[in-house]
Amino acid sequence: MGRRILVLPGDYIGPEIMAEAVRVLETVNERFTLGLSLEHGLLGGAAIDEHGVPLPDATLQAARDADAILLGAVGGPKWDNVERHLRPERGLLGLRSQLELFGNLRPAILYPQLADASSLKPEVVAGLDILIVRELTGGIYFGEPRGIRTLENGERQGFNTYVYSESEIRRIGHLAFGLARQRDRRVCSVDKSNVLEVTVLWREVMEEVARDYPDVALSHMYVDNAAMQLVRAPKQFDVMVTGNMFGDILSDAAAMLTGSIGMLPSASLDKNGRGMYEPCHGSAPDIAGQGKANPLATILSVAMMLRYTLDEADAAAAIEQAVSDVLDQGLRTPDIAAAGQRAVSTRDMGAAVVAALRG
Ligand code: NAD
Repeated sequence: MGRRILVLPGDYIGPEIMAEAVRVLETVNERFTLGLSLEHGLLGGAAIDEHGVPLPDATLQAARDADAILLGAVGGPKWDNVERHLRPERGLLGLRSQLELFGNLRPAILYPQLADASSLKPEVVAGLDILIVRELTGGIYFGEPRGIRTLENGERQGFNTYVYSESEIRRIGHLAFGLARQRDRRVCSVDKSNVLEVTVLWREVMEEVARDYPDVALSHMYVDNAAMQLVRAPKQFDVMVTGNMFGDILSDAAAMLTGSIGMLPSASLDKNGRGMYEPCHGSAPDIAGQGKANPLATILSVAMMLRYTLDEADAAAAIEQAVSDVLDQGLRTPDIAAAGQRAVSTRDMGAAVVAALRG
């Protein structure tokens, strides 16, 4: 039976970058006879304009029926004044929670050709390839009770609850160890177990999970040290696994090591490995409609989708190689072009990747 991919272009640059990613997906679909069928849907502002809500029932149903979802980006000033519960971003959050996408994968890869784009010295970051696995549906961002209360003395107090159950830790652990097996077989679990009991449990459960993966090396690091090591010597890491809040912060820091948000893909997976794939960046309203958007983050999201949900590692590797080839050819969209270097358009970059794929 053919596998179904739901394509959600979204808003502003979303449709521009998605058009190129779809061309790339169609090319590998044909070349590797993957038997994928593509279906398009509306999410975010585009859905608000058409149906009055950011996540229409038809989109949610199509997402449930799909093997994988490919998303562009949602949101932008056009919908700044809609009610809070109808904002475009709500569509995205709704999809993540409805589909229980608990595992967020954020690779930070720095193609050697772009080493100068990083704020760190090229020798520190050239060839960087780390994968941050962040728990996405639990931890302090969701813990109850939470709120702002007024104490008896009249002073206000804000409070949140940092909570993880054993099963939540175990499933993100298994995800990280499984992914490490497809890489360099090293997992660094990041916690704050010198201060926070919840992460004492986190560390214990990670040790338990590790027993199922004798071929994968587990190490532990406190989050403050991890932040320091990421900017000091990032290439020491292979897979980093951590909770929601620490992962939020560390994955943004790691992303910036690469210097170019237009290059970074991401995945959010459920317990069966099905998932949603999207670039790390937003809808970039400032450059929409000008052919300036870099489509490579979305194209690399297609590669992740092939590798992690569809089990098509060869097709994934072919896309990654094609991206490397076009960078070797010197093609750069404005965001990754060096000063004075001629830049190509979104469309030309997509076409070059397709041409590289066709060999
Ligand atoms: P952004 O990521 O859209 O843009 C930040 C900067 O990076 C801008 O200067 C933009 O031009 C540039 N940029 C982003 N993607 C690029 C690409 N592919 N090529 C070249 N340059 C690129 O973040 P923002 O400006 O804070 O947010 C804009 C809108 O996107 C907001 O409505 C926000 O809520 C939304 N957003 C959506 C998502 C998502 O859909 N997952 C994520 C983040 C932000």
